[in-house]
Amino acid sequence: MAGDILVIGAGVAGMKASLMLASAGRKVFLVEKSSMIGGRVIRCEDIFPAMECATCMVSPMQQEVLRTGLIQVIANGHVVSVDGPRGDFSVRLAQRASSVDPQACIGCAECWGACPVEADNEFEEGLSRRKAISVPCAGALPNVPWIDRGVCLRWTGERDCSLCSEACVFAAIDYGDSDREILIKVSEIVLATGYDTGSSALETGGSAAVFSAPEFERYYASNGPTSGELVRKDGARPGSAAILVHAGGIGSHSPINTMYCLKFLHYLHEKLPEIRPLVLLDDSYCPDIVSDVHHFLWEGTGAEIILHSGPVRWEGSEGCARLFWKNAEGDRERDIDLLILGTPMLPSEGTREMIRLLGMESDVKGFALNPDPLLSSVGTSISGIFTAGCAGGPMSIAASVTSASAAVGRILSYNTGTAG
Ligand SMILES: Cc1cc2nc3c(=O)[nH]c(=O)nc-3n(C[C@H](O)[C@H](O)[C@H](O)COP(=O)(O)OP(=O)(O)OC[C@H]3O[C@@H](n4cnc5c(N)ncnc54)[C@H](O)[C@@H]3O)c2cc1C
Ligand code: SF4
Ligand code: SF4
Repeated sequence: MAGDILVIGAGVAGMKASLMLASAGRKVFLVEKSSMIGGRVIRCEDIFPAMECATCMVSPMQQEVLRTGLIQVIANGHVVSVDGPRGDFSVRLAQRASSVDPQACIGCAECWGACPVEADNEFEEGLSRRKAISVPCAGALPNVPWIDRGVCLRWTGERDCSLCSEACVFAAIDYGDSDREILIKVSEIVLATGYDTGSSALETGGSAAVFSAPEFERYYASNGPTSGELVRKDGARPGSAAILVHAGGIGSHSPINTMYCLKFLHYLHEKLPEIRPLVLLDDSYCPDIVSDVHHFLWEGTGAEIILHSGPVRWEGSEGCARLFWKNAEGDRERDIDLLILGTPMLPSEGTREMIRLLGMESDVKGFALNPDPLLSSVGTSISGIFTAGCAGGPMSIAASVTSASAAVGRILSYNTGTAG
């Protein structure tokens, strides 16, 4: 039976799958745990391989998702339970109270301007602060704030604050809003819950010179915490830079890690052209760095590419720090005052949660296991559930979109009786 579809996660993969399913006439429930759609791509300024503007690529897709009648976006939502077989899944969803009426809100920002409470901004990797009522970033879609009841004064019991409500001339704030339960029946499920980045194996002691990969993306971004100025966390302009590509040890051993690290060479070259960056790659994982794509990424950036063997060490001080490594020529060291870590892409907390809740099997890294990769690139251990994007493993945007198309192909062909 050609039933409705549940897509879990509204990054590029989930959005692409939803749009394709809707254009084939299928009703889609797109459940997203955060208050906005778009996923992690919108934290990037530019995206390889063509170094296009990420927002320019994602924004038309976000807008199309929001205006497609057959796609019901359930933001601030999550899956509570799934029962039944393929073709007849009974799903219980929960939607967290946002305390803001999306029909009345016009996204004018007056409410968060009035709010006295600050918390770490998760979208900015904790590098800047947000208010208790906020949107994750400028230009978020939907552009509707939500109240974080974990820090809002009304819910922490500190005082009966109503400053945001007083600031809102559209009467959109609703303190009485409560969590909702939504029960749906779907025939198939697309798991598009993406990735998070893990930590580095290198001890750097919280040095102002060191950035994880997602932090560096935000520092470079024109809408990031320094409005795109590439400085260290103490505000100093660096005079040297290194990228440790496989900073997460074996967890960083994936082609996508190498690709995004080489993209950073363009960021450095554009904003700090006087620097000749050092790129350290683990020789136990030898990616084909002379491939066309890799060459395109590092060509013209003036980078020095070195293969290291064994662990890299970092001895830091407030000002400059020293990087130690070993290669074919012996022990090496260099003073470095900006170090970027190629942190590994791991299954997101949401991916791990869903794998547990759906009773699916996972692979060695914890992503959804594809038991038969020769037959299909998007299958899982449960009939009727397919992966799209990084829920199935670290991959690029192009590969995420391709896998979303493959998942949709499996669903539509099953229902026309040809495959699936
Ligand atoms: C530093 C860095 C730079 C990168 N740069 C590039 C680049 O330049 N070019 C490129 O091609 N690729 C790049 N990538 C890879 C790119 O980010 C991914 O290919 C892409 O984001 C994958 O999209 P996705 O939809 O699979 O996952 P995500 O973008 O992670 O989206 C997943 C969505 O699911 C939601 N979600 C998670 N769990 C749940 C749940 N349980 N319930 C509901 N919703 C949930 C999340 O909130 C999120 O919105 C980079 C990666 C890193 C780490
Ligand atoms: S809730 Fe009100 S004040 Fe806040 S963004 Fe929406 S319309 Fe503006
Ligand atoms: S009630 Fe007060 S503390 Fe809570 S979000 Fe509104 S302004 Fe901020």
